[in-house]
Amino acid sequence: MTNSQTEEKGLRAELLERVHAIGPVLADGVAEGDRTRRLPDASVRAVDESQVGMVWTAKSYGGLEADVRTLSEVTKALSHYCPSTSWVVNNINGSNLLATRFPARTQDEVFGDDPGVKLASIFAAFGEVERAEGGFLLTGKWPYSSGILHDDWAILGAKETVAEGEPPKMASVLVPVADLTIEDTWHTVGMRGTGSHTAVARETFVPEHRVLPVEQQLGRGNTTDVSLPPLLRTPAVAAMAVICASVVVGAGQAARAFVVDQAPKRGIAPTTYRSRPESQTFVSSLGRTALSIDAAEMHVNRAADVIDEAAAAAVALPESELRRIRGDVGQAVSLVTVALDELMWAHGAAAFSESCLLEQYWRDANTAARHAMLNVHVGHELYGGSFFDLDCIVPSL
Ligand code: FAD
Repeated sequence: MTNSQTEEKGLRAELLERVHAIGPVLADGVAEGDRTRRLPDASVRAVDESQVGMVWTAKSYGGLEADVRTLSEVTKALSHYCPSTSWVVNNINGSNLLATRFPARTQDEVFGDDPGVKLASIFAAFGEVERAEGGFLLTGKWPYSSGILHDDWAILGAKETVAEGEPPKMASVLVPVADLTIEDTWHTVGMRGTGSHTAVARETFVPEHRVLPVEQQLGRGNTTDVSLPPLLRTPAVAAMAVICASVVVGAGQAARAFVVDQAPKRGIAPTTYRSRPESQTFVSSLGRTALSIDAAEMHVNRAADVIDEAAAAAVALPESELRRIRGDVGQAVSLVTVALDELMWAHGAAAFSESCLLEQYWRDANTAARHAMLNVHVGHELYGGSFFDLDCIVPSL
């Protein structure tokens, strides 16, 4: 093992310890987060103090600069305590990584005074930017702004207004959250604690150095740049897909642990079984479900490791590998959602009680699994198409 691999393992173990240390605070906040549709202040404080939002912040700005596998492990562990916190932490880390594509001056502005600064990124919708003296005016609405209630900056997708007949230009625009207003729109079945409301800009001035062509933002131009540390060479979109899938896998693992823990204490109505493990039907179905969740984790691990190895070696991943990564993440979340349904059956009617932890994992994982990057149909089509050199149906892998 190389020195840097040993260091990464040490950091991974240290971060997992920190997650378990703050875990009870996060778990205590789940009901409040679900009710108020935002993370409780105590959860946000715990995130800040443990530095789990700094895993993908560059060391040059005081961050931890860990790899994809490390953040995936941290994410899975966070999901056991609170999937919404896990999701917000992922969005902060992923967005912080996206910010490293901006020029040094912009990065100094964002990270220079505070290595714990938190970013959101929203490309689910595109607003508009229009040229103005020294920069641009930004106008638009961005739903699905995960973490926006707790973040300092947001990276927003926008179309540049161009003269008639000119080709369209898409930009990535970095703005302080203080320059935006937030519309309360996040009324969902799951992932309620993420407070993924709608960010709104009305002719907000954005200086030139905070606007980047979207191809540069979501592209893979850095992958072979040996002057950068491995994290900054990492293909950000693929990496974000892996960590988002890890939230779902962690929720599946937590749900399985819950059902296993409860099983010996409960009978099976209306049978004569007094303890569930006495039933061969119960243990066999649990075995099958547990293997699906294991398989989901293997998909996510494979994807994380492929990305990390390429980043460490400063080689560009071929498109076929990037397509398989989207297949891996889609397959992983799909396996978990099916497994969660089976766990709900295994636990019985009590699983649907609002006070049951299992229904929280079920709602949260099912909601997160519908994120566009995790779409299983798209993942299958991308991977299947790679065997026949079919055109790539997703512009940014
Ligand atoms: P789509 O995701 O477009 O769903 C299309 C559906 O069509 C699919 O589910 C699929 O079942 C079905 N379908 C049928 N045929 C096909 C086919 N051939 N191929 C593919 N699908 C097919 N975005 C951000 O940019 N930033 C964020 O911070 C953010 N946070 C989010 C948080 C959560 C919890 C969720 C769920 C989403 C978030 N998003 C975020 C939004 C996400 O990126 C997408 O923009 C969003 O999922 C689009 O939703 P949609 O309802 O338009 O459906």
